[in-house]
Amino acid sequence: LKANHERAAPLLKALRADGIGHRINGEVVAASSGETFETTSPIDGALLATAARGTKEDIDKAAKAAHDAFKAWRDLAPAARRKLLHGIADAIEDHADDIATLECIDTGQAWRFMSKAAVRGAENFRFYADRCVEARDGLNTPAEEHWNISTRVPIGPVGVITPWNTPFMLSTWKIAPALAAGCTVVHKPAEWSPITADLLAKLAKEAGLPDGVLNTVHGIGEEAGKALTEHPAIKAIAFVGESATGSAIMAQGAKTLKRVHFELGGKNPVIVFDDADLDRALDAVVFMIYSLNGERCTSSSRLLIQSSVADKFIEKLVARVKALKIGHPLDPATEVGPLIHERHHAKVCSYFDVARKDGATIAVGGKAHDGPGGGHYVQPTLVIDAKPGMRVAQEEVFGPFLTVIPFKDEAEAIAIANDVQYGLTGYVWTAEMGRALRVADALEAGMIWLNSENVRHLPTPFGGMKASGIGRDGGDYSFDFYMETKHVSLAK
Ligand code: NAD
Repeated sequence: LKANHERAAPLLKALRADGIGHRINGEVVAASSGETFETTSPIDGALLATAARGTKEDIDKAAKAAHDAFKAWRDLAPAARRKLLHGIADAIEDHADDIATLECIDTGQAWRFMSKAAVRGAENFRFYADRCVEARDGLNTPAEEHWNISTRVPIGPVGVITPWNTPFMLSTWKIAPALAAGCTVVHKPAEWSPITADLLAKLAKEAGLPDGVLNTVHGIGEEAGKALTEHPAIKAIAFVGESATGSAIMAQGAKTLKRVHFELGGKNPVIVFDDADLDRALDAVVFMIYSLNGERCTSSSRLLIQSSVADKFIEKLVARVKALKIGHPLDPATEVGPLIHERHHAKVCSYFDVARKDGATIAVGGKAHDGPGGGHYVQPTLVIDAKPGMRVAQEEVFGPFLTVIPFKDEAEAIAIANDVQYGLTGYVWTAEMGRALRVADALEAGMIWLNSENVRHLPTPFGGMKASGIGRDGGDYSFDFYMETKHVSLAK
């Protein structure tokens, strides 16, 4: 903890002194309007930095820079692009501890998880760096009278809009494939967590990324974000955030026919059958909702537990949730840190009353918590005796808040699991492989893990169904979004 505080002090001092500017065409610039907004600490509410508050004019400058840089970036030899992206990954690894420290301070996420965020960010760049060369690959499907060749070309400058929950990792996850595909980028990071997005753009420039290829414009969603989605030079929007915002972006982008890719909210079920390895399932249930403060789109926020083992399982779960360590995000022992912002804290706390009013029982937690610094802490909360129709079983709380619903048999488990507007992930625990696959087949979700917590393998498709998203990321799926498929037919 001491070492983390010592590392944080000069980083914070520099941030307070310098503030955060946009990074457009390789230059650090203030907002055209001269306006700024504040990013504050989830730990104690202190000012962390003032950031440029982007407007339509700033987005216009950034989109022009991305447009002007596009042709050279598109036409750069893929091997040269690969080298540059590996260079960014090297720079991320060299600054991994600084990135983790700033991420903890800006978001309230605990060090034990954020210390891996930079490594994962670097991996995202390496994975797509190695795919630069094959990004344009297509198919040759010869017919009787023609050679039929399909290939892929980058779509053009794209907009990337990211949320605050794991901002560094998510920014790399969207930006790396876009750059590998040959697109240039205008990034609008979340206004509650602008710090590491700025650092990413700085490191990319230092690693030699040409000016204009990655531009970062900070600001408010309804201002800078909206302007980005409406800009005619921006050909596609990759968005991660709330479902309602996705809807707004789709409407905003309609006039300029934007291609959209949405990674949205979730209310993901973990289904535990009575024949499962209950100890392993218990570990996974706890990890998948209380890690990352529960501010995680893939969190299993609904536990569906078979009635025959419910009492025994819940008894153990109660003990585990009570033992979770709430604390300062920079403390390596901390499991649950403060929530990102007072508005989000108020939202999560409002669900304690919702649970009570709905007639569910709060078995653990259910209150704000007075943690170090007095910031936006809440008690990890476990709600039992919930019915599938209750708000706590339907709505995304996006905090350390687990709702438990018992079920009798497989058919009921599937019905409850699917009875929400979302469809991002599902987790199934059972010893019977036939059942595991049957349930996986029946679940309305984009990603399903059987007898496992969420483990990400970068080539596999990532994305959701229903209100959880449109499109898939990962492997070549990202290239399908950032690139146009082009067909060429040659007479024999
Ligand atoms: P949000 O939708 O409020 O904001 C996300 C981003 O969109 C921010 O940068 C914001 O400034 C911008 N924005 C807001 N209004 C806009 C508008 N009208 N036009 C353009 N941009 C606009 O989401 P959040 O609260 O930052 O993040 C939490 C949400 O993100 C949760 O619902 C969570 O499930 C979801 N999420 C999903 C995934 C996934 O992969 N499916 C991953 C992480 C987070």
